[in-house]
Amino acid sequence: MKQRAAKVGVPVIPMHRAVLTKPLDHLRLPKLLHPGNKKAQAIIGADMQKRAACFWATPCGRGCSIRANDQSTTVHLPPAMDTGNLDIVTDAMVRTVLKKTDGRAEGVVYVDRKTGIEHRVKARVVVLAASALESVRILLNSGVANSSGKVGKYIMDTVGAGIGGQIPLLENMPLHNEDGADFGHMYSPWWLYKEQLAGKLGFARGYHFEFGGGRRMPDMGTGTGLEWLTGGSYGKKFKEDARRYYGSFVNFSGRGEMIPNDDSFAELDPKVKDKFGIPVLRFHWKWSDHETRQAAHMQKTAAEIMDAMGGRMGSAPQSGEKAIKQGGVIIHEVGGAIMGNDAKTSVTNSFGQCWDMKNLFITDGATLCSNADKNPTLTIMALAWRASDEMLRQMKRKEL
Ligand code: SF4
Repeated sequence: MKQRAAKVGVPVIPMHRAVLTKPLDHLRLPKLLHPGNKKAQAIIGADMQKRAACFWATPCGRGCSIRANDQSTTVHLPPAMDTGNLDIVTDAMVRTVLKKTDGRAEGVVYVDRKTGIEHRVKARVVVLAASALESVRILLNSGVANSSGKVGKYIMDTVGAGIGGQIPLLENMPLHNEDGADFGHMYSPWWLYKEQLAGKLGFARGYHFEFGGGRRMPDMGTGTGLEWLTGGSYGKKFKEDARRYYGSFVNFSGRGEMIPNDDSFAELDPKVKDKFGIPVLRFHWKWSDHETRQAAHMQKTAAEIMDAMGGRMGSAPQSGEKAIKQGGVIIHEVGGAIMGNDAKTSVTNSFGQCWDMKNLFITDGATLCSNADKNPTLTIMALAWRASDEMLRQMKRKEL
């Protein structure tokens, strides 16, 4: 694929994975992570020694029992628990943020999902990290932090379009086992900066390709549903067909940046409530020409790569309006409580701290005011860390 994609000018590299390939340097790294904080260094250093390097044997998407991959339940929460300063209340769905008479947050009201009973907790600082749109819902249901009128506005997803097909060159490959580490794919970073800058593309932001395929447990990427190639076969012929085609399928998933717009927003639904009687969100969505043209470009380029590989496509490229996935489908929802420099036009400052409620922070994707083509998780985590550091600084200064 790398060789054939190069013929149409598209670079291909292995994807980077947040997985340990060797034990962490527990003597050096804690000091860099928590400078001057001996207790935190000791806790994180001890925890690092409990994480092993990947042995490439289990599907990462189901969770890594040896803690080689990065996930909050096995990597971030255990050392936080070891501080003795963390209580986790599960099955607790926050309904509203409580407001004191001085305008600060007092705590939250949550519903126990199992019993339906409401509880209250008080807090010096409240941090919302419920996932972008759920945090928006909590803010709107609480009637707080919205003097700008921007809560719910500028919601974004990743632009998604792609094409898949079958590559005769990959048929009847020797048997080998690719079970184990999953979600691996090759990657094409955005490569048309110059053409874009010269105004030749008709859309303003970049995208990347994720290539899927291989010979893992059969799924969408490995090739199920062979009828379009075989015409439908049974018995011995079906087994031969399955062996022939297994692992010869490739998917090209284009993932691009969306530009926020006034027509994509969420608001409280005036009628619909969830089973606890809490109003749900109602969504409004519109892709602009920037996104639909980008989606058309994704499909056209994927088709060119497929062609260069001598492949057969499952379906022909479509118009951008038809090719683009619905908003929300790529599940990179961000925005809705954007950060900014001005309290009139944003919900939080650059630390995720609400302009209207100083002791209320938002540390999920709601504060993102753009959505680069890369998956947003690492940006969210970096901003959350930055917000936490600022929170500590303000707490030490007794401002919170
Ligand atoms: S392949 Fe297995 S051991 Fe390696 S990171 Fe994934 S889940 Fe963990």
